[in-house]
Amino acid sequence: MTEKTIRLLQLYPRDMNIYGDWGNTLTLKRRLEWHGYQVELLEHNPGDQFPPDVDLIVGGGGQDSGQDVIQADLLNQGPKLLALAKSGVPMLMICGMYQLFGKFFRTREGHTINGIGLFDIETYGGSERMIGNIVTKSNLFGDIIGYENHSGRTMLGKAAQPFGTVYRGAGNNGKDATEGAVCHNVIGTYLHGSLLPKNPAVADWLIEKATTRKFGEFTATVVDDRFASEARRIAASRPR
Ligand code: GLN
Repeated sequence: MTEKTIRLLQLYPRDMNIYGDWGNTLTLKRRLEWHGYQVELLEHNPGDQFPPDVDLIVGGGGQDSGQDVIQADLLNQGPKLLALAKSGVPMLMICGMYQLFGKFFRTREGHTINGIGLFDIETYGGSERMIGNIVTKSNLFGDIIGYENHSGRTMLGKAAQPFGTVYRGAGNNGKDATEGAVCHNVIGTYLHGSLLPKNPAVADWLIEKATTRKFGEFTATVVDDRFASEARRIAASRPR
């Protein structure tokens, strides 16, 4: 058994963790173990001391009210998170956390919840929710399959790189066919589902970034992903 340990942090699991987002953390843990690593699971909730030596960070979606609850703590941790992102720590931020890794989320009522501004994006609450299965295409990963449920419409600024191009579903705003954003090794996306069980290539990309950064190399084990393939096929064939 290897001594190599990856410290995997779930951000705000108490307030930001819906539509199966916890499955992303479980998938990373299990795949890391399959690839021969040990995993230390860590959590950070508002008011906690931010843990040291974090290698991989996951954040989930939540209600507007959940975003309100974590806002102050997130802004406190902002400089640290930005520095970690800049140093190459891979992160996956879903929906509500994706929005708050951008500049801000402004609700329909005009209430602004500020973000840490890693992504050059702004999000505005709309009158209709965008709900259903979604399929996007990315140069890096091919088809990405998930489930979206958000009222926020996200606009990419000039410096933002989209995560994927939508070909079924709404994505960032239902208009420009972009979905999510990528900056350094940080992925922001609207895709719940959970995302990673159905998209093992994305999970292994995050793992490769984390292990290479820490140990200088990554040797993947061949994983039998036939259940993931079947889940992808079924989700992609279901109407919204
Ligand atoms: N409150 C945000 C929205 O509806 C985030 C929702 C979510 O995280 N699922 O746009």
